[in-house]
Amino acid sequence: MSLPYAEVIGDPITQSKSPIIHRHWLQALGLQGDYRHAHVTAEGLEAFLATRRDDADWRGCNVTMPHKQAIMPLLDALDPLAEQVGAVNTVVRGEDGRLTGYNTDVDGVAEPLSALLSRQDAHAYIIGAGGAARAAIFGVSRGGAATTSIFNRTAHKADELAVLARAPSGKGHPLADLIPTESNSHIIVNATSMGMGGQNPVPVDLSRFAADTIVFEMVYAPLETPLLAQARAQGLRTIDGLAMLIGQGAVAFEKFFGAPPPRDNGDAALRALLTA
Ligand code: NAP
Repeated sequence: MSLPYAEVIGDPITQSKSPIIHRHWLQALGLQGDYRHAHVTAEGLEAFLATRRDDADWRGCNVTMPHKQAIMPLLDALDPLAEQVGAVNTVVRGEDGRLTGYNTDVDGVAEPLSALLSRQDAHAYIIGAGGAARAAIFGVSRGGAATTSIFNRTAHKADELAVLARAPSGKGHPLADLIPTESNSHIIVNATSMGMGGQNPVPVDLSRFAADTIVFEMVYAPLETPLLAQARAQGLRTIDGLAMLIGQGAVAFEKFFGAPPPRDNGDAALRALLTA
């Protein structure tokens, strides 16, 4: 008997936690199906899609580095949000074999943020100017932020994203300028790999930010980054990297398997599996 299945593709790929997440939900719902890692190189991406397009059991895939942008021209259709973001992290195969690209990283940012944000006037400081930062721009806006500015090591990339974010100044900023410049409440998003094991922490002094600031960390290895530790020590509200990982996966899961995953008790059982 054939089973529906989905995958996560990338190069490298074995580090991805997506199979743990999707298999947990398949099991919790008692659904027949599977979710696997697939090692796909840049050179092999087109051939991979051609094979899976003909496989009626294949529901689609999540897409991670280095394919989030390269996969876009290989698909039959793009969700308008993925087109705006300029990156695809989820591909869904229709019954007719047509492949549509989505960006559920945006949902992964918006979901935990909207649950915490009670004010309408928040300003988001996004650190980073890569693919994750692009999703963060749309995610913080959907999550309730009023305005956004971009901070990055490489200045010209910050300028490009500042245009996408409609930043009030119209320009990006160097990392060293990350201080509160807006009078409204604050959201700080780390959309870089700073804070990952072996990397320098994000160079920011959170004591300069207001007490109602929300610190959103995308890094999840380690789960408690220096940025989150600093925020918690100051009593600021925090969102960790697993919140985004689980949130983006939940939207993709429903697209693959046709049912929303169980999200009970703050995803406690799933978080325990992911941090074991
Ligand atoms: P990317 O496109 O390669 O962008 C990397 C970003 O990090 C760039 O802005 C880069 O700055 C900056 N950066 C890297 N090393 C740095 C350093 N030593 N000092 C200062 N800036 C540095 O990667 P991405 O796809 O956007 O991913 C960024 C992070 O988000 C990664 O840690 C990834 O694991 C995480 N992420 C998490 C989730 C989740 O579900 N939690 C989802 C997606 C991504 P330059 O422009 O100057 O190079």
